[in-house]
Amino acid sequence: LCVEHPLGEGQTVPLERDQAHYLFGVMRLTEGAAVALFNGRDGEWQAEVTSAGKRGGVLTCRSQSKPQGAPPDLWLLFAPIKKARTDFIVEKAAEMGAARICPVQTDFTNAERIRRDRLQAHAVEAAEQCGGTYVAEVDDLARLDRLLSDWPEDRQLMFCDEAFAEASYGTPDGAPRKLSDAPKGPWAVLIGPEGGFSPAERKRLHNHPNAWPVQLGPRILRADTAAVAALALWQATLGD
Ligand code: SAM
Repeated sequence: LCVEHPLGEGQTVPLERDQAHYLFGVMRLTEGAAVALFNGRDGEWQAEVTSAGKRGGVLTCRSQSKPQGAPPDLWLLFAPIKKARTDFIVEKAAEMGAARICPVQTDFTNAERIRRDRLQAHAVEAAEQCGGTYVAEVDDLARLDRLLSDWPEDRQLMFCDEAFAEASYGTPDGAPRKLSDAPKGPWAVLIGPEGGFSPAERKRLHNHPNAWPVQLGPRILRADTAAVAALALWQATLGD
């Protein structure tokens, strides 16, 4: 369970109403039951239910079961699509360890706004389900061109280009630079919207010094599939 409260030996953690409902109403836990807690700072703690009520309750930390893990310095930038698919992307990115999830507006993105609080709640649930000790941060919607204008010098960008096969990339002979030659360290993965990137965006990304264009196989994947495939590719080639 993800909580805000500090965790440490003997520390008591008051539960919010929805947490108490989940533990005691849905999971049917009673006093004395064990619950694993994390808060993104103090690692994972095994806690005991020391008070259980309908509207609240208290857990008491007994022993640390995992030290605090550091997230890989990985961001996912993606153009939000239909609600359920956007939820899916956030959930899967959080499960796969992204530290920051940035919904971006591109030239062909339809979404004008997102429910950041709902997406953040999905990231919390994903962290709880996969036994993580940190929760991915979900940003508000931002324009891709603004992010690219202010791009951190030391962060590489895996640009998932659906038109990779038709492009002539980077090096003097037109061969794309290989991801296997890319540096480790801070990275971001960029997935476009259902309509793909506009010609102006593709040109800008081609010329961006930190962008590494990649092809995720010969078929055009749906954006949610592409996000999972790209994160797995990052993990396999550049992750720890
Ligand atoms: N409308 C575009 C088209 O028909 O060419 C397809 C866009 S695709 C549904 C959404 C995003 O997923 C793309 O912008 C890209 O970032 C990523 N993507 C999908 N398939 C890909 C592939 N084979 N290689 C690299 N990226 C891909």
